[in-house]
Amino acid sequence: MINITKNINDFIFGDIPTSELIEESHQKKIEHFGKPITYSPKVFIPLTTMCRDKCAYCTFVKSPNDGGEYLSINDVLSIAKAGDAVGCYEALFTLGDKPEIKWKAAKDQLNDLGYESTHQYLINCMKEVNKTYNILPHANPGLMSKQEITDLKLHSPSGGIMIESFSKDIYSKGKPHYKTTTKYVDLRLETLNNALEVKYPMTTGLLLGLTETKDELINDIEQIINLSKNNPAIQEIILQNFRAKLNTLMRNNAEVTNDLYLRIIATTRIFVPGHISIQVPPNLSPDITLFLKSGINDLGGISPLTIDWVNPDHLWPDLEKLNTEVINSNQILKKRLPVYPRFIEKEWLNEAMFEKINNIIDTDGYPRENNE
Ligand code: SF4
Repeated sequence: MINITKNINDFIFGDIPTSELIEESHQKKIEHFGKPITYSPKVFIPLTTMCRDKCAYCTFVKSPNDGGEYLSINDVLSIAKAGDAVGCYEALFTLGDKPEIKWKAAKDQLNDLGYESTHQYLINCMKEVNKTYNILPHANPGLMSKQEITDLKLHSPSGGIMIESFSKDIYSKGKPHYKTTTKYVDLRLETLNNALEVKYPMTTGLLLGLTETKDELINDIEQIINLSKNNPAIQEIILQNFRAKLNTLMRNNAEVTNDLYLRIIATTRIFVPGHISIQVPPNLSPDITLFLKSGINDLGGISPLTIDWVNPDHLWPDLEKLNTEVINSNQILKKRLPVYPRFIEKEWLNEAMFEKINNIIDTDGYPRENNE
């Protein structure tokens, strides 16, 4: 264990030039994923901006007093329809974690819609989307029990929960997760374990920049590597760079530098199992071309229709320009589904979802071009 910690420390903070490090990690990416750099054409469906937590960096969350509410089913279906019409494959349900536990107004709104819980409403929305459209529901609803994941698996091929950081220091006063109730690592690991028991493919990841010390960063990388080795339900790790946002408690916090970011990506790629997808968001770095040959194989969701509801100040890249940049890196920009090809198996998907997906994909497990 000490050796792994030391290796990670040496890779990230040692003397190996960044160019050498990323060459090795890019080589490993090519061995396991070939030339494709994938992205998921998607629409954001902000089912509710209410949440029982309030993280210090979050601009998505809105209390009922500030106008937080649930989208109506008609709005949900309109967004799904629009996404479907322009060839999106992912309906990303973005929502706060069970706001009805904290807010009576949330409970009242749910009751008016005819539901007891956010989970029940989410499941119904997914069911309605699947009835009419090819687009595939995917949700990040926060902590999930085994039963909740079993319900979600009926209507979506995958889900997600970010670990963000394994550090225990970020729960103290003035820190990013002070007074949160859902951000405890052990609870989030439990959700990922529940997903494994139910055989539900999951995306997880780190939010780089929440912690302050080298040791915390090394521990985060080591723990996420261990997690990817020990939990076979994990299909993807997002290495997301924290961006300071106005009107948040963390507006003046430092952001990760490009060189450190590259070294973190490369180190993670070198140590995770080969099949793990490593994603960096394409709209959170001023120059995404720097990262195309760092060991990443994926750029996450890019929407032709909706803003990034979690980082609304950061626009999606222009797809034509991105395509040229990926070609210039000697790779191929390719669309993917919210579930990676390796997980398109009966073991990981329920029967109806397996069938729906098989009607969309080519022999490599990516969406067929003529679906559009
Ligand atoms: S749990 Fe998610 S939605 Fe809720 S405040 Fe934190 S980051 Fe925002």
